[in-house]
Amino acid sequence: MILLLMGPPGAGKGTQSKRLEEAYGLVQLSTGDMLRAAVASGSDLGKQAKALMDRGDLVPDELIIDMISARIEQDDCAKGFILDGFPRTVPQAEALAAMLADKGLSLDHAIELAVDDDAMVKRITGRYTCAKCGKGYHDEFEKPAKEGVCDKCGSTEFTRRADDKEDTVRNRLDAYHAQTAPILAYYKDEGVLSDVDGMADIDAVTAQLKGVIGQA
Ligand code: ADP
Ligand code: ADP
Ligand code: ZN
Repeated sequence: MILLLMGPPGAGKGTQSKRLEEAYGLVQLSTGDMLRAAVASGSDLGKQAKALMDRGDLVPDELIIDMISARIEQDDCAKGFILDGFPRTVPQAEALAAMLADKGLSLDHAIELAVDDDAMVKRITGRYTCAKCGKGYHDEFEKPAKEGVCDKCGSTEFTRRADDKEDTVRNRLDAYHAQTAPILAYYKDEGVLSDVDGMADIDAVTAQLKGVIGQA
């Protein structure tokens, strides 16, 4: 099964992808996480991406397409995957369709997490992540059961993304509407687009997603 979660920064793509990974035995492919790993490693790709990411601008299509096409060749993707943060432009969507067609595959569902932009600033500026296992949290909306201790792995170290600042978020929201929202029409035409209410609480969004996806 191949799923795509779409929505602006803060919509809940990462949070829900992690839940769907477990529920359906799929692997989450987050281009944002892959790029942050490239920046941390100091690779050529990371060097090219860093300044763009810091500003909240998109990284050029060709770099992203090369990165994801290499990733989906890996063995762990054979059982299916969840795309989180890719495609983000029409050329990326077209490149994805060509990559999948080459393998005799196609997208099962493109699901839009529909949200109010105004609420996204609060979600993004309150977001943090376990430094060890990557589980996501929020200062107000998703606190660990014991303050300062990761629910999943017990780590006490957490990180916040450098680009999760209010002015960068505004730019990322603008980039979403200008460059990414047009691909909703693309997937609607393909007959694979659904939408769920991303303003509902986290468990309710997961339930809606499972309703769309059905049994594995
Ligand atoms: P995205 O990957 O789409 O940018 P995240 O999944 O990282 O978004 O979610 C952004 C922040 O909002 C995180 O801190 C997360 O805990 C929180 N969050 C996610 N979904 C919801 C929701 N439905 N209601 C409230 N907060 C949420
Ligand atoms: P969010 O969780 O807020 O939606 P991501 O982690 O997906 O953000 O992306 C962080 C940054 O990485 C983006 O602002 C952009 O600079 C870059 N990026 C991630 N995915 C893509 C993509 N598919 N195309 C271009 N740039 C991307
Ligand atoms: Zn953890």
